[in-house]
Amino acid sequence: MSTLLSAPPSVEEMYKQLEEKVRAARPNEDVSALERAFRFAAERHKEQKRDSGEPYMMHPLAVTNVLVDMQMDLIGLQTGLLHDIIEDTDTKLSEIEANFGEDVARCVDGVTKLTKIDLADREERQAESLRKMLLAMTSDIRVVIVKLADRLHNMRTIRSLSRERQERIAQETIDIYAPIAHRLGMGKIRGELEDRAFQVLEPEASAELIREIDAKREQNEEYLKKIKTTIEQKLARENIPSRVDGRVKRAYSVFLKLKRQKIRLDQVYDLLAIRIVTDSVKNCYAALGVIHNEWHPIPGRIKDFIAIPRPNLYQSLHTSVIGPGGMAFEVQIRTEAMHRIAEEGIAAHWKYKEGRKGSGVDDQRIAWLRQLVEWQREMRDPSEFMSTLKVDLYPEEVYTFTPRGRVVVLPRDATPIDFAYAIHSDVGNTCVGARVNGTIRPLRYALKNGDVVEILTQAGHQPSKDWLGLVKTPRARNRIKHVINAVERAKAVEIGQKSLEKEARRLGVQLSRISKEDIEKVATDYGVSKAEDLYAALGFGRFSARQVLQKVAPGEAIEEPAPVEPPAKPAPGRRIATGDGDLAISVTGIDQVMVYRAKCCNPIRGEPIVGYITRGKGVAVHSVQCPNVQNLMYEVERKIDVEWVRSASEPLPVKVIIYTDDRPGILNQVTSILNAESSNIRSLEARGDTSRQDEAAIVDITMEVRDKKQLDRVITAFRRIPGVRDIERVQHAP
Ligand code: MN
Repeated sequence: MSTLLSAPPSVEEMYKQLEEKVRAARPNEDVSALERAFRFAAERHKEQKRDSGEPYMMHPLAVTNVLVDMQMDLIGLQTGLLHDIIEDTDTKLSEIEANFGEDVARCVDGVTKLTKIDLADREERQAESLRKMLLAMTSDIRVVIVKLADRLHNMRTIRSLSRERQERIAQETIDIYAPIAHRLGMGKIRGELEDRAFQVLEPEASAELIREIDAKREQNEEYLKKIKTTIEQKLARENIPSRVDGRVKRAYSVFLKLKRQKIRLDQVYDLLAIRIVTDSVKNCYAALGVIHNEWHPIPGRIKDFIAIPRPNLYQSLHTSVIGPGGMAFEVQIRTEAMHRIAEEGIAAHWKYKEGRKGSGVDDQRIAWLRQLVEWQREMRDPSEFMSTLKVDLYPEEVYTFTPRGRVVVLPRDATPIDFAYAIHSDVGNTCVGARVNGTIRPLRYALKNGDVVEILTQAGHQPSKDWLGLVKTPRARNRIKHVINAVERAKAVEIGQKSLEKEARRLGVQLSRISKEDIEKVATDYGVSKAEDLYAALGFGRFSARQVLQKVAPGEAIEEPAPVEPPAKPAPGRRIATGDGDLAISVTGIDQVMVYRAKCCNPIRGEPIVGYITRGKGVAVHSVQCPNVQNLMYEVERKIDVEWVRSASEPLPVKVIIYTDDRPGILNQVTSILNAESSNIRSLEARGDTSRQDEAAIVDITMEVRDKKQLDRVITAFRRIPGVRDIERVQHAP
């Protein structure tokens, strides 16, 4: 037999090779967990085949092989073997945890979640979100690294897929995965991902370029070899330890360069590149001197990324020189540590090449990552570093998905209501529930990274006021206010219209005889343009029906029944209205309205206040600090300026709680302070504070004060009593 076709290696043989490699790389570690992971995965994937026809298990094995080369630790390697098991078999995560522990289970779960995300929507604005999201979803950097190794092997075996799937996966690789590898400083993986995707996406251009590069390959390799020997000799003569490599630049990066600079291949200065790796920064500069002494440097091509590292922490000296025969080539000089970061480095920050100015938060992130990389350099075993590294790059954002895979970026703790409004106002308005990752969740549920959210809607449903307390996005808040306003207004119009009709009946005025024009004319008198606005104002209680009626039908002798509104004291430009008897508040520009202190906050004189026109009950006066104000003031129209009238009137009751040491004499001091202020005590109650271990007491006191100033004075005096720990004003009804 002249030819012996060797059978492809079996799954078992592949594993043996892998294990040997791991043993060599990690001689002091117990690799039995690796074999258990392999047996477990091989059993579960047993019946499955890849698109190429080979046993499915070849894929996790190949991925894990890549991970060994990247110096991954055993947790990462087990994750590599098990990474597709949840997605592709009916294995439960709990089984992984029971068999391989919490760390492996968490990583496998992380990779599964990334795999499940449909990245099909490839709009440019989505790509950035997706890249951020992939990192945001990962609390363990090993998850991203396993995912990148997975993608690398998928790209290596992409030819067995349909043309359409090839293109989809290649585009995703260029848009999402290669940039992530780049930002994590993983130059080698990024280069291979890009070149492979390039060949799928631009078959003609890549073929031509590769042909062109290949045509000169022999010549170029010969040339590189010669230069390499020269450099090695020169460096040795200067006692500079070195490892010298020569390479032809990667096709995709040449392609981008030709496109960007609109030049031809023979105009690319750095198609050929020499890399010198030496032992110290000092020797990097020494080697640069040797190179420039031998060949003429091209002006403007010397770059010192050691003194000024690139934002992704890349460090090297770059120069381009004119070599023998007038041919240009690039030289990169770096230390061993810099080289490792350039090829395999795991951390870099996001903003690189995004062209955006770093915010304060970004700067902090970069500083933090930089620190991590510093630590990594000091560690003998980089995997030790990986296992301690927890990443949360975007703590203020959460990345969620529509069932179709569109990314919806929301602030942290956003709820399904925010999500619904981000999709569409109608979806938000009619939202009645949400299914998150297939499970029904309450509307107050805080969404998490990677959640797939399906909003349940019901036609005709309307947002409730409570939603204002649940939402985190301005968009949702504004939409909800808008709808609530419209609803309230419609109600007010109805009430206004009815009250006018009722009043007309009572006074014997025939409303049907009054024309729409007349009503609109009166509306203008009240500063609104349409009859409907007038009804709404009536409904909200801004004007009384009787006033309006007198204006609408002045001719009709309205016989005056007893007044129903409280008597008003006119003042120029404003009127003073009295509400519940112990209150004097002036309301700017409004006639005869009922005014009362809101029960939720009971503002006192001197305190900043704001009025809110209630429906049919007049104006409620709230403290500006009242927590209800934010929720009530959704309608600017109903907010009204109010102020305390100057003249002093009756004192108002205010309740405070004094937290104090439990010791005799406290109550005496409290009452003598109030006596000195001639403030009446309405009630006073002291009790032990059972919620605390130490001797503590609580005094509830309701006292009468004239204004805020007096209250502040009293509270300051209370605070000075020895033993008093804290004082709290109770803002609800005393
Ligand atoms: Mn996979």
